[in-house]
Amino acid sequence: MPVATPVDGTVQDFTKRTHRLLIDGAWVEPAEGGTFVTRNPATEEELSSVALAGSGDVDRAVAAARRAFDDDHGWRTISGAERSKIVWRIGELIEQHADELALLESLDNGKPVDLARTIDMVFAGDLFRYMAGWSTKLEGDTIALSSFPRPGQAHAYTVREPVGVVAQIIPWNFPLLMASWKVAPALACGCTVILKPAEQTPLTALRMAELIQEAGVPDGVFNILTGEGETGAALVAHPLVDKVAFTGSTEVGKSIVRAAAGNLKRVTLELGGKSASVVYDDADLETAIPNAANAVFANIGECCTAASRLYIQRSIYDEVVAGVSEVARTIKIGVGTDPESEMGPLISSEQLERVSGFIEAGRSDGAELVTGGSRIGDTGYFIEPTVFTKTSPEMSIEREEIFGPVVSAIPFDSFEEVVERANDTHYGLAAGVFTHDLKRAHQTASLLRAGTVWINTYNHNDPALPFGGYKQSGWGREMGHEVLDAYLQTKAVCAVL
Ligand code: NAP
Ligand code: MG
Repeated sequence: MPVATPVDGTVQDFTKRTHRLLIDGAWVEPAEGGTFVTRNPATEEELSSVALAGSGDVDRAVAAARRAFDDDHGWRTISGAERSKIVWRIGELIEQHADELALLESLDNGKPVDLARTIDMVFAGDLFRYMAGWSTKLEGDTIALSSFPRPGQAHAYTVREPVGVVAQIIPWNFPLLMASWKVAPALACGCTVILKPAEQTPLTALRMAELIQEAGVPDGVFNILTGEGETGAALVAHPLVDKVAFTGSTEVGKSIVRAAAGNLKRVTLELGGKSASVVYDDADLETAIPNAANAVFANIGECCTAASRLYIQRSIYDEVVAGVSEVARTIKIGVGTDPESEMGPLISSEQLERVSGFIEAGRSDGAELVTGGSRIGDTGYFIEPTVFTKTSPEMSIEREEIFGPVVSAIPFDSFEEVVERANDTHYGLAAGVFTHDLKRAHQTASLLRAGTVWINTYNHNDPALPFGGYKQSGWGREMGHEVLDAYLQTKAVCAVL
């Protein structure tokens, strides 16, 4: 592996600090004094020591968020125009610090710094600004009542109010971006927040917390608790938390639903996927091949939308498999801070083991390995982009979420067949369709049971487009105006005159 390029001094200073918890506007030591380390997955070297929040810290942070919400002059009572300005400022600060944040992200997560800069940081800044616009547009309705049909008899209307104290738990694949998807709409709606980043990648969220303070968010409105799964579990079980927003594995998602039952807190979930790309025989292969490859290899397959099932119409099957395998072989893999790198390492030794386990299972189940399949080097969690053929629906590589750069290329003959096979999964997050036939494109989109369907593109997300899962890929939507439903509740007011 190439050696990392030197790291900018500001970022180095930040990583060298011992990171604390942000509770009620102050950076504090964890009550029980615990810490954990975060590592660079490209070098396996320790980057930073980070506070491990225990149950006492969860209580403190929830109490602070509760006060900041319930207080007579709390965040929910501040005008939408004022909240809008503050949320907008966070977006501006992310944009101003994008180089620094991208470098930090690259070190902590392993992804190429250029991609972190041009995708994650740009999207995060845009998202805060998009959500800032909604703060001034949270409107209810006036309602005509059937029980009082004549004018002047009654006056009924609805008001949209923030849901309250929100615990937000995020994963390690797009650390700052996932933090933004969660924090921006919650603050825009007037909720107060406790954010729990993934233990593998806490650094950009910690830096973002400083920027949130700088933007003028009042004390207690935004709190950050770094820690482990138990920290998240304590937040989810806490009786004074009104809502949990979670992104991560389906398994933990199910445990959150159970744990939230205590006070029936609201829950939104963005979970796993086993997404499909469908390439019809009339597709423009110059577009379809790189997009289908990117659909599964982007972010080293650590994408909930990773299209790890690639359905190809039989007459073009060999050509598309050859094209996608060529992309797999030519992606430049290396340390994220090397500007030449197009793909970094997996996040951890656990993920390397998990992905390698799927590859091994594919081999022993009788699938044919066209390219890839091996770890690269023995330092860092690098792995080759991998293409399998001759898979079948019973094999784990075709059924289960891998969360790595591994694709099953599957031939199909008819429209009916591919729709049935693509839908044969308990997930339903995303899908891609490649064709020049407009009718076929929209027919396929309408029959695929997925929260997002991309046509002749993939992974094209936008702050204005709602994102979320059908079936076991989740509950609720992020982004677009639909995310507001996650952070607002509706009060109906009915006056008989
Ligand atoms: P995970 O366990 O679901 O972790 C996601 C977040 O939940 C992390 O912040 C984690 O904290 C926290 N958490 C863990 N256990 C919890 C609990 N009982 N209650 C509340 N919060 C809890 O995911 P993972 O173990 O990192 O990854 C495993 C697999 O999940 C991946 O291979 C992939 O298949 C899937 N995944 C999906 C997504 C997605 O975007 N949908 C993202 C990441 C992973 P800690 O980090 O401290 O454990
Ligand atoms: Mg790390």
